[in-house]
Amino acid sequence: MDYELKRAWQRGATALAVPASCLLVLALLCVRGAAWREFWNVRTIGVVTNLNRTNKGGCHPTIEYSVGGKTYNFQPAWTYSAENFALGQNVTVLFPPNQPEFGMLDLFGEVWLLPIGLSIASLVLLALGWRARTGLPPILHGLAGFGLFVFGAVAGMSVFGLLCMKGGLEIFSSAPVIVSLFGGIALFFALVPACALLAGATWHRYVPARCGRCSGRMVSQFVGKQLIYTCNSCGNRR
Ligand SMILES: [Zn+2]
Repeated sequence: MDYELKRAWQRGATALAVPASCLLVLALLCVRGAAWREFWNVRTIGVVTNLNRTNKGGCHPTIEYSVGGKTYNFQPAWTYSAENFALGQNVTVLFPPNQPEFGMLDLFGEVWLLPIGLSIASLVLLALGWRARTGLPPILHGLAGFGLFVFGAVAGMSVFGLLCMKGGLEIFSSAPVIVSLFGGIALFFALVPACALLAGATWHRYVPARCGRCSGRMVSQFVGKQLIYTCNSCGNRR
């Protein structure tokens, strides 16, 4: 078997393992946060004070609740079907013991949907990375390239945050407001697409897909908006 090709596939598997591990760590942190909400937060009764109906027949209710004589309100993370809530309806609210302002609805979806979604996404990426050791078929190869593109964008945003946000390096902190504003905007719109394109392009440049017919090297190429795969050995095209 082609040694160079094997090496390229192994590099691809390593490249996928990086975002997969980052996502897995994030997912575990979210699971920990959700478990903390579920088991260590305080429960109280809240009231639906506004349904905030959306155009598509959904609602994004405002929930009001009181702790220690002070009233707080919040909106849930997701949009719900309008039948799920009624004005004046009582709901259970979770809040951290010493931070009553961070209320959230005590519903399975509110607490667990994000951690479960992230866990599944990270496991799918890990499986994809595992499979990539022996080459990915064109469809999965394209999907992995897109995943890396998104990961690159997120990485770009993180670098931007690190450079410019409060608590980070704050490179514009001593500059005049106008410089910091436009500098920040320019940096954001340069950094995020650059990182995304770099991650996606590096993947397509250095990691070939695996031909379904002869298991050989398939090179990917963007023709307009379409991604075309061509096998170097047997000429198979996808
Ligand atoms: Zn082939």
